[in-house]
Amino acid sequence: MSTFLELGLKESIIKALTDLGYEKPTLIQEKSIPKIIDSNQDLKAFAQTGTGKTAAFSLPIVELADENDLSTQAIILSPTRELAVQIGKNIEDFSKYLPSLKVCTVYGGSSIEQQIKQLKKGAQIVVGTPGRTVDLIRRRALKLGKVKWLVLDEADEMLNMGFKEELDKVLEATPESKQTLLFSATFPKEVEAIAKNYMTDPAEISSGQKNQGSDNVSHEYYLVTEKTRYPALKRVADINPNIYAIVFCRTRRETQEIADSLMKDGYNADALHGDLSQIQRDSVMEKFRKKNIQMLVATDVAARGLDVDNLTHVINHKLPDQIENYNHRSGRTGRAGNKGVSIALISRKERSRLTPIERILKKKFVHTSVPTGKEICEKQLFHLIDKVENTEVNDSEIKTYLPSIYEKLEGLSREELIQKFVSIEFNSFLSYYENAPDLNNLTTKENSRGRSTNDNMTRFFINLGRKDRLNPAKLIGLINEQNIGDKVEIGSIDILDTFSFFEIDKNYEGETLASFEINRPDFNGRNVNIEITKTDRGSGGRRRRGSSSGGGFKGRNRKKSTGEKSFSSKGFGRKREDRKNKRTSSVEGGSRKRRRG
Ligand code: AMP
Repeated sequence: MSTFLELGLKESIIKALTDLGYEKPTLIQEKSIPKIIDSNQDLKAFAQTGTGKTAAFSLPIVELADENDLSTQAIILSPTRELAVQIGKNIEDFSKYLPSLKVCTVYGGSSIEQQIKQLKKGAQIVVGTPGRTVDLIRRRALKLGKVKWLVLDEADEMLNMGFKEELDKVLEATPESKQTLLFSATFPKEVEAIAKNYMTDPAEISSGQKNQGSDNVSHEYYLVTEKTRYPALKRVADINPNIYAIVFCRTRRETQEIADSLMKDGYNADALHGDLSQIQRDSVMEKFRKKNIQMLVATDVAARGLDVDNLTHVINHKLPDQIENYNHRSGRTGRAGNKGVSIALISRKERSRLTPIERILKKKFVHTSVPTGKEICEKQLFHLIDKVENTEVNDSEIKTYLPSIYEKLEGLSREELIQKFVSIEFNSFLSYYENAPDLNNLTTKENSRGRSTNDNMTRFFINLGRKDRLNPAKLIGLINEQNIGDKVEIGSIDILDTFSFFEIDKNYEGETLASFEINRPDFNGRNVNIEITKTDRGSGGRRRRGSSSGGGFKGRNRKKSTGEKSFSSKGFGRKREDRKNKRTSSVEGGSRKRRRG
């Protein structure tokens, strides 16, 4: 592998790269830098985000630009303001030791007068979004007559966003003699058309295989229903206590709703989309970069400019409308040599949409089960223990309090002490997930659950399942123990992993509920909770009367008592306050906010 020096860059640039920690060029840099420095040939580069493409086109421009000539020599177009700002900042970093080289970044949503002022002072390199660039050309504030390099970064995305006309205008404003550098992660026919119409005999380089996903990203899918999509998202976060992710949504509204729900549920999350002002967007991005936000819920467009290297996950809350965008999304993780996971939450119907994506990625999605409550609890528990183990003790600060603390806890054994400390953080987590349903069961059996098969029967949910060693005989025994009535008829029984259903003669519906409520039976030490499942024939609307300790999924169109919200036609379901308070105030691990004070 070559060094930056061998690629033809001067000492002052290499010094700046060393400051940035760039030791060796990436593959795309190795291929593009000498090509741009040594020839005037146009260049078509297949490069995804995360491959080092910004430096690949910027470094040769910084190398060759004439510092003594203040006219604009390079115009770099990028689809979003965030990406434009990022490129501008990178170029400033690369030219740190070239004080006369100026870069000006122009984009909408920010004062055009300021940008005009800056352009008047002169900038050899201008980075801009297409709309604002055209605006500045029209106002004659930006003159491109002396441009030597035109860069179209993320050309596919610019066309996706409908910037074809603006691209045409910018291209028309530049001289024939310029060198055009087109960087794109995908090459649909619209991008090929740009290359064909505006480039002369371009050289082609690639950072890997065309359109193929990064080798560092693995792809997983979880089967969900509309009802379990959000709970599944939360479980992905809960099973990954150190998650640092972008959650992609398709619309601004969906983005805001999911972010609001996550925040309400105590996660370190926020939204990034085009309805926010530039100041709000900058503030969210800054918090995300600093990891004050662990889950950024974003639209495709808003997240384009985000330059974060160490994302653990990309989560597709919904698949993008255009399959090419999946590649863009998943390319946000697995960058700069790190490993990443891209997760798609999909319904059964959407399964077929993965096939064309797999073809592009040349990789298969792995079907992964939505984590169970037990798995999450285990993961969180050991995360907590690791934290305890690695916590540094500030001797001098706590020294004065220790004698009285020791005295107070004197009577406790080591084991008791450990149990108590762990329980402070962990009890509520356990109780939150205690009766949580297996979301994988819901996805496969959704249509058959929660409905009585017999009009004379009422179908009940019970918060016990196979995992509690419940079987039909034991369930019948439990029902009989409640003395509901001598002649009560028990209908079909459905035992699932963590909860079950049974039918009772409709005439005994009230007695059944009342008996369980009065007797408050327990089964192998667990409080038993039953409730009527809503049927499509109209027993819906009945209120839950069981104890508050139970949980489980209550059939179609009903909220779960686990505190996991369900989607309803009006948006998100309402949360049970008791659960909410437990979660937000006590949960330590994961992406949830830490308690203050
Ligand atoms: P990009 O594909 O331009 O978005 O770059 C992805 C990330 O890789 C950015 O954070 C860059 O700072 C980083 N990067 C680019 N080139 C190098 C290099 N040669 N060595 C180390 N990091 C790099």
